[in-house]
Amino acid sequence: MYHISDVKKYLKCPLMFYNHVHNDAELFRPYVRLDEKLTELAREKLQVTEYFLGQKNDDKELALEALKKYDWLIKARFEYENLRIKVPFLHRTDFGYDIYFVYCGNYPKDDDILFYALTIWVLKNNHVYINNCYIMHFDANYVRKNELDPHALFIISDCFYNDSNKKQKNIKDTIYAKMRNYTMILKEMEEVEKGDKPKAVRTNKCTKRNKCLYYDECFDEESQIEDNSILTLVTSQYKYQMYESGIRYLKDANIDMIEGTRQQYAQIQADINGGVFVDKHALKGWLKNIRYPIAFLDFEWDTYAIPPYYGMKPYDVLCFEYSIHILNEDGSIDHHEYVGTKDCRQKLIENMINDIGKHGSIIAYNANGAEKIRLQEMIAQFPQYANELWHIYYRMEDLQQPFMLGMVYNTKMRGTYSLKTLMSILDEKAYKSLDIHQGMEAVFNWRQIDNEEDINSEEIMLHLKQYCAMDTFAMIEVFTKLQELAKDFI
Ligand code: SF4
Repeated sequence: MYHISDVKKYLKCPLMFYNHVHNDAELFRPYVRLDEKLTELAREKLQVTEYFLGQKNDDKELALEALKKYDWLIKARFEYENLRIKVPFLHRTDFGYDIYFVYCGNYPKDDDILFYALTIWVLKNNHVYINNCYIMHFDANYVRKNELDPHALFIISDCFYNDSNKKQKNIKDTIYAKMRNYTMILKEMEEVEKGDKPKAVRTNKCTKRNKCLYYDECFDEESQIEDNSILTLVTSQYKYQMYESGIRYLKDANIDMIEGTRQQYAQIQADINGGVFVDKHALKGWLKNIRYPIAFLDFEWDTYAIPPYYGMKPYDVLCFEYSIHILNEDGSIDHHEYVGTKDCRQKLIENMINDIGKHGSIIAYNANGAEKIRLQEMIAQFPQYANELWHIYYRMEDLQQPFMLGMVYNTKMRGTYSLKTLMSILDEKAYKSLDIHQGMEAVFNWRQIDNEEDINSEEIMLHLKQYCAMDTFAMIEVFTKLQELAKDFI
């Protein structure tokens, strides 16, 4: 029996589908936290009190029987031709059934049309005829008060939204216009599942949005490439074409086949120079803005689909930890840190304002894409600290800039620009020696403490502190290296 997610995988890539059905299910750990029961909140919004509630592994006849007895069916399971679906809300009306999908986001678009079309297709083949289609989604402007209000949290829409988040196409019309007969696809899926493993064929789906889970397995040879391989060229549409035509190294890139970004220029020059490129004027210009004492700041945070605390909106984040390393002009270093649980927002802000000091620059890695945004969110939720937080904001510099703007490149970076990559060039063992190695691992660990699960919270706290502290320590190492590079090239 297949689910809609299997069909989506198959249509994306038969090999991805094959791997999925033949391997043990991957442990799914959501990036976004959803503690509240979404269906329960949606039920309150719809004011449904009498209903049939479907369960996992329900017999397929159960929902058909329930149709005869109930006006509302919630999470009912239907099947047709080896495809099993779960229908969030189905409501009998005088003109057929209204279906309510629940979208865990702010603006449902028609990019997931297959999901909706398959649901309606299975219902149609069970003689459940749809009168109208609605999507319940979050109101992006909803701000939580003390209690969560499902009536204000959800919007019920009969239209999809466009890229500017404006209501555009009618949901039912769009679904019916795109709906197909999926019988052949389901048959093909069975054949693929029973047949030999399909061959890996590289398409833009392998890396679109997120890198495919099976990428390293499919293209194992890429992990073996040399540091200066043409395949490390970033944002390059034609790197595989160049590779196929016999171009192996960055220094040999075909000028007519590159986009000509500053990062690409730095990569090619680094290879020509034997491994390192430094735009000394640009780098010295960037360093000139930095003032001692320099505070290196890093936040860890969790993202909540449904706002858990006062003043938060859907998909707001909550910073639960920071580490601050302060590099003084005489070379001495001070360290401050904070980790909280539950609604620790105010305490974190107060401690940070106190720890970070009033003078000097503040550096974060990817400050423009993370720490500065976190500060703006704090200001919106706690305007009483606006002056102090704006002061921190305007002192902040982004350590990623010298790399993203092509001022510095080392072929050992192999086309990646993360702090961990840079630190691994300077000290291979630094992150490897930690129990927590990357950001989402820190979040998953923190959730265990925050949920008060039966775990050794002191040990996890220690690991969280070590991980965050390593990030700010790594920034000092990278910053010091940049200073050295600027000097070497005077
Ligand atoms: S990496 Fe590409 S070829 Fe391999 S499973 Fe993923 S999408 Fe398919």
